[in-house]
Amino acid sequence: MPLRDMDREQMWLLPPSLDELLPQDHPARFVAEIVDALTKDDWSELGVDIDGDSMGAPAYHPRALLSVWVYGFMGGVRSCRKLETACRDQIPYLWLTGWQHPDHNTLWRFYKDHRQSMRKLFERTVRTAVAMELVDLAVQAVDGTKVSSNASVNRSYDGAGLRGLLERLELAIADLEAQNEAGEDSAATRLPQELANKKVLRERVRLAMAELASQKRHSRINLTDPEARVMKGRHGGIVAGYNAQAMVSATKTEEGTSGMLVTAVDVVDEVNDNALLTPMMEQAEGTTGTKSQMTLADAGYFAASHLAEFDRRGQQVVVPESRQRFLKDPYHKDRFIYDGDSDTFRCPQGQTLEFLRIQHVNGVPLRLYRAAGAACQACPALRACTKAKEIGRSLSIGPHDQVLRRHRAWMSTAAAKEGHKLRKQLVEPVFGIIKEQQGARRFLLRGLSNVTAEWILLVTAFNLRTLWKIWSSSARLQPLT
Ligand code: SF4
Repeated sequence: MPLRDMDREQMWLLPPSLDELLPQDHPARFVAEIVDALTKDDWSELGVDIDGDSMGAPAYHPRALLSVWVYGFMGGVRSCRKLETACRDQIPYLWLTGWQHPDHNTLWRFYKDHRQSMRKLFERTVRTAVAMELVDLAVQAVDGTKVSSNASVNRSYDGAGLRGLLERLELAIADLEAQNEAGEDSAATRLPQELANKKVLRERVRLAMAELASQKRHSRINLTDPEARVMKGRHGGIVAGYNAQAMVSATKTEEGTSGMLVTAVDVVDEVNDNALLTPMMEQAEGTTGTKSQMTLADAGYFAASHLAEFDRRGQQVVVPESRQRFLKDPYHKDRFIYDGDSDTFRCPQGQTLEFLRIQHVNGVPLRLYRAAGAACQACPALRACTKAKEIGRSLSIGPHDQVLRRHRAWMSTAAAKEGHKLRKQLVEPVFGIIKEQQGARRFLLRGLSNVTAEWILLVTAFNLRTLWKIWSSSARLQPLT
């Protein structure tokens, strides 16, 4: 087989235009569609002066800089140095910037100044999809994923660890100062870098101790990123990280459902998800303007207060309880039948439990009911039913007990079981794509506010990937906005 001629020095009589180098369905074109469609008001919401200054040296156009950041986040190029390189040697970036080459300082300044307003761009992706009827909001699923912080877990200490570290530092500093004083130069000029570093670390340890002592929420603190928490990361490993949240619904096209769109997003410095179900549902509702009929969540989100809120709103929620095996107990309190007329419960053996009093547990009022001790002592099920053999079985009924009972009945239905299976299919691929294809196994910045902005831009980029797939599969490649 003959070989083709290859000439790297080849000159073109009529060189191709930049536009010809980028395929018509390329995701960079889609990013440009979205960014170019932003109105002056939209830019203003993002905190960007789209007109620029009339004085001074010409600055890079915000459309170019925003496009580069968004496109970079779509494909896992997230640091300003990598973006700077890409703006010099990759055609999609050169096309987005109009063959300009912003350096990492310019890119960083733009991101730093506007990252906190990227939620507006995220909301725009959702509203675009909703307006074009591309998202099926009947069902939504929420989940969280642990993302490592830009800090080593080895820098996380509890109170005792910090005290030990402080003692070691004090000894090391005293030792270094003694060495300094033994020298001939003045201390100010001879202060070695090692001593200065140790003094900075000592100050940081003192601040961390004060921070830890001033609150009860967390027992450990990280010296590099004080807001990162020790949590289980991927594959069960322990990391210093954050809990990144997403509410997801399926997208729909004429061919049927095809992908996923994130409709609510957040990051918390809490390991547990159980305070987040209602806030995430409300955020999704606010962004989409639609009440989802069914919300799917795993057992980590279970809390009676959430069930009560969904019940009040008339919305269905599929969320299993973490302590499932107690529900199978034949003497679980749900097996006791309530009689509203007499305000009593009837136990599985037919005995009556009378209302006794209201007791407060952690500020929550619980209604206490109790069976007659003599009746329980004579009962063949006494051992299985209660440990309080002397006084008889009692029931503590919280304010959400009726909602809980209805929820348990709902969770045993085929529809709820189907919904539970669907949850994984909806939300887990989203985290897989963001971590594996968009490279977000670790946050690049530190602090809750910064990593939240980073996560929001990652999710925005994820939504744009979804919308781009729909856009590129459309024969006419019509603008989406
Ligand atoms: S122990 Fe008391 S409450 Fe429990 S089943 Fe027997 S009679 Fe009923």
